[in-house]
Amino acid sequence: MKLELKCKACGHQEPVYIQYKCPKCGGIQEVSYEWTEETEAEIKSWNNNDDNSFWSYRRLYPIQPASIPVSLGEGNTPILPLKRLGERLGLSDWELKNEAVSPSGSFKDRPMAVASTFAIERHISTLVTASTGNTGVSASMYAARAGLRCKIYVPATTSREKLALIKYFGAEIVTIEGNFSEAYLLAKKDAADNDWFNVTSTFMNPIALEGNKSVAYELFRQKKTVPDWVIVPIGAGPLLVAVYKGFKELKRAGVITALPKMAGVQAAEVAPIVQAFQEGASEVTAWKRSFQTAAGGIADPLLTYPQDGTCTLQTIRESKGCALSISEEVMLYHRKVLAETEGIFLETASVTAISAAVELKEKGFADADDDIVSVGTGNGLKDMSSL
Ligand SMILES: *Cc1c(COP(=O)(O)O)cnc(C)c1O
Ligand SMILES: [Zn+2]
Repeated sequence: MKLELKCKACGHQEPVYIQYKCPKCGGIQEVSYEWTEETEAEIKSWNNNDDNSFWSYRRLYPIQPASIPVSLGEGNTPILPLKRLGERLGLSDWELKNEAVSPSGSFKDRPMAVASTFAIERHISTLVTASTGNTGVSASMYAARAGLRCKIYVPATTSREKLALIKYFGAEIVTIEGNFSEAYLLAKKDAADNDWFNVTSTFMNPIALEGNKSVAYELFRQKKTVPDWVIVPIGAGPLLVAVYKGFKELKRAGVITALPKMAGVQAAEVAPIVQAFQEGASEVTAWKRSFQTAAGGIADPLLTYPQDGTCTLQTIRESKGCALSISEEVMLYHRKVLAETEGIFLETASVTAISAAVELKEKGFADADDDIVSVGTGNGLKDMSSL
């Protein structure tokens, strides 16, 4: 299948190579597939395929047909009904897509598996990333698995568990006395200076982000229907955008007819995308206020790259969804209630997807009988200090 990198702003298209922004206008790029009957047949065939693995979708990832995947058993995560929690909080038809059981404990293994497979194909020596922790842990694990070098830039406020794991897997770690956006700029320069692969989870790396689409494919195959709402915790929001892209591919292939509404959730302490959504703004502005949040995994003020937030805002609007923010007290309360009523342990950033389901109903965005899926993006074991 022919692959290209396509600019989301000006439409400029060129072959896939290591390139982080559109060379014409500096816009965000995404991987675009030449759409043929073969593409449609491939997507339709998934329904009759016994293989549910992450790599059963590899024809729709930007890797060569002959490449051996770098894999730790990522993807194919369970979908769990939240019946007892739903009764407690007044919600029915509510499920969790539980990414917490991923090899590194977060969904970041999906983009990282694709990125490291691509890096091996292209003989790139080193993965480099800025991270609020989970991307760093995942990158260090996949780099070890693939025999790649790995360098991670993290804010000093990153959880101790995540810092310890990154070091344990042998990655080089650079701790920044600043926020994620500052780590972002340093990683970007380092990758550019050395021709390393920048796998930072913003809209930096269109190759890596293709791995996230598989959440949509799996949701459809597991549920056999499209949920009314998919709730995703967002920093810059590439997971949300990629999940919607996955559903759009299923629709284009004629496998589904409706698309879900996408709800993006942020911590009220750092909520640039929610603010723009509430103000009806067409563009997201960077978050200049100082902040302190237990939801470290999604604390991204978007300083110097607010256009990444705008990309997510546009997808939320296109899907007729919404953006919601959650207070510190509410997310910590739901983290405990989720644990007690369902036996599921998520990190605080991830629990915002639980709190947001309640808000969706209370604020009148969702109808009483809407089918809601919350994406549980990260495992609580890497975020123990707020207990
Ligand atoms: C990375 C991450 C997110 C969302 O990240 P985006 O990069 O904005 O897609 C959500 N939850 C957790 C736990 C994360 O680690
Ligand atoms: Zn462009």
